[in-house]
Amino acid sequence: MMKKTLLMLAALLASASALAATPWQRITHPIPGSPQAIGAFANGCIVGAEALPLNAPSYQVMRQDQRRYFGHPDLILFIQRLTTQVHNLGLGQVLIGDMGMAAGGRFSSGHASHQSGLDVDVWLQLPKKRWTPQMLLKPQPLDLVRADGKRVVARHWQPEIDSLIKLAAKDEQVTRIFVSPAIKKQLCADAGSDRDWLRKVRPWFGHRAHMHVRLRCPPESLACQDQAPPPPGDGCGTELESWFAPKKPGAGAPVKREPPPLPPSCQALLDKHLL
Ligand SMILES: [Zn+2]
Repeated sequence: MMKKTLLMLAALLASASALAATPWQRITHPIPGSPQAIGAFANGCIVGAEALPLNAPSYQVMRQDQRRYFGHPDLILFIQRLTTQVHNLGLGQVLIGDMGMAAGGRFSSGHASHQSGLDVDVWLQLPKKRWTPQMLLKPQPLDLVRADGKRVVARHWQPEIDSLIKLAAKDEQVTRIFVSPAIKKQLCADAGSDRDWLRKVRPWFGHRAHMHVRLRCPPESLACQDQAPPPPGDGCGTELESWFAPKKPGAGAPVKREPPPLPPSCQALLDKHLL
């Protein structure tokens, strides 16, 4: 009897850990082929991904042990373009967080998107000195938002952070940047007459210590699904204010739903590589 209970318990635990892991984590190297971002940002995969070079003077890659530093070549080029500008302006070291896995796909934790090799998290701190390997393995996020969620923490908010987000938003291939509503509010207040770029900066849950940057679908990636462009305007008015209004009962962060079925070519890729 006892033995049977233990066996059942073991089976339960095994199925729980199977749920936590995703098959995409078992693909450790990019799928060879001409680069193709496939599907949607939150339900897709990538063929022909590249690894972001881990040694560069203008940026540092955090949590390299997680191997989430792959992306479409356009994403690699964007990171190099952005960080070179930041470096040349002497703003500090750019800290690169999660990109995607070698073949994209769903992570076991942390993100719904970052699946098609076109998303990257960039931290909103620009250290003047390079971090040590130990610091990069266990990086300490700097929460830029006050506990009430309504404003940034004044002593943490540096003009360099404004510049970093603005440079990213002005990149032609960037379609959206997600930050906490409090950070967007600060950007709106700091921006002068040059405001077009603010349209791409979207308020979202979390994102208090990093920005999430998303690129447009590369033209040759025919199975890549772009999002509709953000609504016109700088997004600093009523839309932003709605984030600070008292919540209606039941409102809050989106409810986690079952993942939708994979795009057929991503499923085919999994079937082929995990036989
Ligand atoms: Zn992200």
